[in-house]
Amino acid sequence: MRSPILDYLDEIIEKTAEVTGGAPADYIPELAAADPDRVAIAMCTVSGTVYAVGDAEDLFTIQSMSKPFAYGLAIEQRGLDEVLEHVGVEPSGDAFNELSLDPENGRPLNPMINAGAITTHSLMCTTDPVDRLLTLIGAMVERPVEVDEKVAASEQSEASRNLGLAYLLDAQGVLASPPQDAVSGYIRQCSTSVTVRDLALMAATLANGGVQPNTGERVLGRRTTRQVLSVMASCGMYDAAGDWFTAVGIPAKSGVAGGIIGVLPGQVGLAVFSPRLDAHGNSARGVKMMELLSEDMDLHLMDPG
Ligand code: GLU
Repeated sequence: MRSPILDYLDEIIEKTAEVTGGAPADYIPELAAADPDRVAIAMCTVSGTVYAVGDAEDLFTIQSMSKPFAYGLAIEQRGLDEVLEHVGVEPSGDAFNELSLDPENGRPLNPMINAGAITTHSLMCTTDPVDRLLTLIGAMVERPVEVDEKVAASEQSEASRNLGLAYLLDAQGVLASPPQDAVSGYIRQCSTSVTVRDLALMAATLANGGVQPNTGERVLGRRTTRQVLSVMASCGMYDAAGDWFTAVGIPAKSGVAGGIIGVLPGQVGLAVFSPRLDAHGNSARGVKMMELLSEDMDLHLMDPG
């Protein structure tokens, strides 16, 4: 028998059908070509049960939703203190591609904006950082994942802004690899191909303190996972982080291909997908879907329960 939870998730898709504002990201040519009407929701409990509806098997690129996981790997690799010497944890209130640096020490303000994520990428490990991240993601989603080379090449052809950020970061002395390597690796990291089902499993792994719910494998340390979730809570939705946290109330991260992951620690991982973006670069329908899910299921962390 079909689970009533799937019927409920279908209802969320129907209820948000009128949210047709926004447009797919156009600064990466390959993303501009995305079918804007694709839509999907997936939810995974900390016991590993996945519920997925809509275009749940469609692949799209992870984009900035890779940033929390890369941050986790950098912490595991270098230790939190060393990572904090390179990247801060303060919300910037600026757009994702601004050069938001701490005026006191020249570090990027946080690892969720591009400047911080390019720095984090350079800290992940000395050789093959992308392979290392793909292995981590593969362990979370229980299948091998790959880079979408077409999207990576497309972003690489329009990378002036991220390269500009990287050269300035290098001049500040915060990058741990040459600027071109950090940017090309970061672009490949962002081009990892995932489904909404994969993202729900990744979010559930964070909800479960860094342990993959089905395999029981610890993929990130408990303290690392807490750090990752804390930064997602304060900085995950760019300059809409305050609106997001007051309305939805859970740590989250969006990506410019139209995905959003949300994590209720100890309970559930959520993922939504719809390519049209709002003015902040977050999926417009995705935000609405997450608001309804949070409301209906009482997910807001500030509710006494
Ligand atoms: N690869 C994208 C960029 O650096 C990621 C941005 C995002 O998903 O917000 O522009």
